[in-house]
Amino acid sequence: MTTVQRSVPRVPMVSGSAPNPYENAMKQLENTASLIKLDSDAHEMLKQPKRILSVSIPIKMDNGRVKNFQGYRVQFSDARGPFKGGIRYHPNVTLDEVKALAAWMTWKCAVVDIPYGGSKGGVVCDPKNMSLGEKERLTRRYTSAIADFIGPYRDVPAPDVYTDPQTMAWILDTYSQIHGYQVPEVVTGKPISLGGSEGRLNSTSRGCVIAAREAARSLKLNLKGATAAVQGYGNVGSWSAVFLKELGVKVVAVSDSKDGIMSKQGLDPRKVQLHKDKTGSVVGLEGTQEISNEELLESEVDILIPAALENAITDRNASRIKAKIVCEGANGPTTPEADKILENNKVLVVPDILANAGGVTVSYLEWVQNLNREHWTEAEVNEKLEQKMVSAFKSTFETARRYNVPMRDGALALAVGRVSEAIRTLGIWP
Ligand code: NAD
Repeated sequence: MTTVQRSVPRVPMVSGSAPNPYENAMKQLENTASLIKLDSDAHEMLKQPKRILSVSIPIKMDNGRVKNFQGYRVQFSDARGPFKGGIRYHPNVTLDEVKALAAWMTWKCAVVDIPYGGSKGGVVCDPKNMSLGEKERLTRRYTSAIADFIGPYRDVPAPDVYTDPQTMAWILDTYSQIHGYQVPEVVTGKPISLGGSEGRLNSTSRGCVIAAREAARSLKLNLKGATAAVQGYGNVGSWSAVFLKELGVKVVAVSDSKDGIMSKQGLDPRKVQLHKDKTGSVVGLEGTQEISNEELLESEVDILIPAALENAITDRNASRIKAKIVCEGANGPTTPEADKILENNKVLVVPDILANAGGVTVSYLEWVQNLNREHWTEAEVNEKLEQKMVSAFKSTFETARRYNVPMRDGALALAVGRVSEAIRTLGIWP
């Protein structure tokens, strides 16, 4: 069998001492509810996920012993369409984290106005210390445990932290074996050979740079000759650097978990990637100056794209951020305290549920192609992504203006408003 390679995200989960992510998600909902004067019945219905599955996943390990893993699938809301959300493999997965991520997926799909609800899956495991065979058996058994609750019109999984196109191929095969026919539309983020979409690999970054471009336009900032710094040089960060350069932006600083590099003349993203592939880090590229991650975040640039971890911008460093635009490629890179400081300093923050929604948007396009048995060119996919992102940016910007709030609150207001409208229109049965 061919193994599909994808860079493995090294994103830390919310640790035990961190604030409870589901409480945070519900607090956000409460704030948004009072901002938009949310219908109290719709609010009541959004206080809990529609369905929570908790499954045990026994598999035979390579040493011949059985190990039982804990898995979850949380389906938050399907008011706007089938549930949609990735599957995460990580030792720190908790039910509350999966619940929060399912709520955020609901808002993300609503912001870009794709006809999906939101869900998320998680398995408590340490994939770094599992063989390929163990991961395959885990994936197949997890799929069989949730098979009655997923499906092209029910709930469509996708890759997330430590899961990749190969994982999706195993889910697709297991689900199809159970049903007796091939169902490519049950997952997105598949390998192209199995019905995956052109352009899916770098769709998050493409969407993120479109969002940054629209933000620049709103500030009347000319991108030709503007400068940018990108934190994190993985899937999202490295492609964001490529697309920024295509727009004429000078990417002067990038970083990874080791440290950062800087060049006032501007970096060539492809050279940086070659160096990282060869040495394992961006650090040490000829002709660049080494900087710390803190220095990267605080560098004198027009656009900052945090594309690494959660909580990169906090109340400790927010006042030193000099960028005019922070466009959140990563999920949750800015803490609520930092948000307030950035707002006071008139930094335009493009929130994650808008800025990194390009990935789920192209997942949706993949699903549409599968349902119609079509395969579009990359140009067609990119064109549709462009339209969705531009329209989502405009709607978010206008909503933020209308309520006189930052774009993060605007995005939530827009999303929660759209979901609650669907809930109210559907009514309750019986
Ligand atoms: P990745 O693992 O490919 O890249 C992460 C990068 O961050 C790596 O280069 C790593 O070295 C770097 N990094 C780790 N710790 C760092 C630190 N302390 N300082 C600076 N850099 C550090 O992951 P990815 O897929 O690019 O995801 C990055 C972020 O984007 C995550 O928050 C993820 O949830 C979010 N995201 C990704 C997608 C997607 O399609 N890949 C979609 C939506 C959101």
